[in-house]
Amino acid sequence: MDADILIAGAGPAGLAAGLALGRLGKRVVVAGPADDRPSARTVALFDGSVRFLAALGVWDRIAPRAAPLATMRIVDDTGSLFAHRPTDFKASETGLEQFGFNIENADLTRALEAALAEERNARRRHDLVTGYDFEAERCRVHLADGETIEAHLVVAADGRASPARQAAGIGMREWAYPQVAFTALLDHTVAHGDASTEFHTREGPCTFVPLPATDTAPHRSSLVWMMRPAHADPLRALSDADLARAIEKQNHYLLGKITLARRGAFIPIQGLTARAMTAPRLALVGEAAHVFPPIGAQGLNLGLRDVAHLAEYIERLQPEDAGAPHVLDAYERARRGDVLSRQIAVDLLDRTLLAGFLPVDVLRAAGMAALTAIAPLRRFAMREGVLPGVGAPSVMRRPDQHP
Ligand SMILES: Cc1cc2nc3c(=O)[nH]c(=O)nc-3n(C[C@H](O)[C@H](O)[C@H](O)COP(=O)(O)OP(=O)(O)OC[C@H]3O[C@@H](n4cnc5c(N)ncnc54)[C@H](O)[C@@H]3O)c2cc1C
Repeated sequence: MDADILIAGAGPAGLAAGLALGRLGKRVVVAGPADDRPSARTVALFDGSVRFLAALGVWDRIAPRAAPLATMRIVDDTGSLFAHRPTDFKASETGLEQFGFNIENADLTRALEAALAEERNARRRHDLVTGYDFEAERCRVHLADGETIEAHLVVAADGRASPARQAAGIGMREWAYPQVAFTALLDHTVAHGDASTEFHTREGPCTFVPLPATDTAPHRSSLVWMMRPAHADPLRALSDADLARAIEKQNHYLLGKITLARRGAFIPIQGLTARAMTAPRLALVGEAAHVFPPIGAQGLNLGLRDVAHLAEYIERLQPEDAGAPHVLDAYERARRGDVLSRQIAVDLLDRTLLAGFLPVDVLRAAGMAALTAIAPLRRFAMREGVLPGVGAPSVMRRPDQHP
């Protein structure tokens, strides 16, 4: 074997997999182009993901570029008759200083690449994978430069189109939402106070998430603004200054005067779920296995839980052969519930906003009222939003959390 494990894809899930599996003493190859170009995308990483990245020894590289999220504020901006009042969820209520941290995607990728470069069991190839021959005992993986690498296990971290998933014949269900998400990095004049604010509109959430100060910009946030495609078209045509005015209006001037520091794309919103997380000699992680709307910062946190669980089973079961069927079976069983429950929760929340149907508004308002009034329920919801209470990978659990 040229490697124990080949990881296809060097996005955040693939790089984290390279680090986690390399640290277990497995010989890993991470193949795929580096993707650390500056973009207008950020990810909020919750407490469990931060614990995992700290255990991998990479958190110290990430922390200086990340902003803490101490409060999550939800504002009902639907205009509904039954709109509930703004609700603050505070990390301190759950015993945490912060729910997690927000960081630019490019900074996260750069930190993971740097850590991987120092991992002695990991080799980094920047070529695309062009083909797979799955066999009973191994997989032959063909790279764009003509090299073939034999490995016991392929970890597909190659994103939503996942050529590895397709090559292994794993089916998937894919669907579209009538929404696009506009992303941007913003400078503003009013401090965010370590609070992210989600305005729930009839077109989806419009979310402002804290970013750390720089030498030139003391107040910074990232924006994910979900809207109907018909609303996006006129915004696309606006100058940066006019778009900044539209954003100020959208958040009711919460952050004062806004300047666009980086203008991102309008991303079509999709959902995808793979029919299985494994096939012989293959495990899917990250968006190769599941994609959903950017609501509640669930996507990559779930992807990192895939990686942490895979590493946990390989460590616990101690297989000579990292792609042995019993390892893959254990991984498949561990992941299904977490993926399904997150997908259903995000989908439901999004659809209740889009519905514009009075009884649904009443139910949503009642749910928020219950969360506001009943502290134990609120704490439970906050904890579950950050990490599943049951069945989370051990490395992500807080000392006070039971298995
Ligand atoms: C607007 C927006 C906001 C979001 N905010 C959050 C958030 O706050 N918190 C959160 O947890 N999640 C968030 N997400 C989700 C998160 O961004 C994704 O879950 C995450 O980036 C997916 O990472 P990945 O490594 O699985 O896939 P990707 O980042 O897509 O990486 C896949 C990689 O595979 C490579 N590849 C493809 N084909 C091949 C091949 N043949 N050979 C080799 N390599 C290949 C690609 O080049 C790419 O680098 C957000 C998503 C969006 C759209």
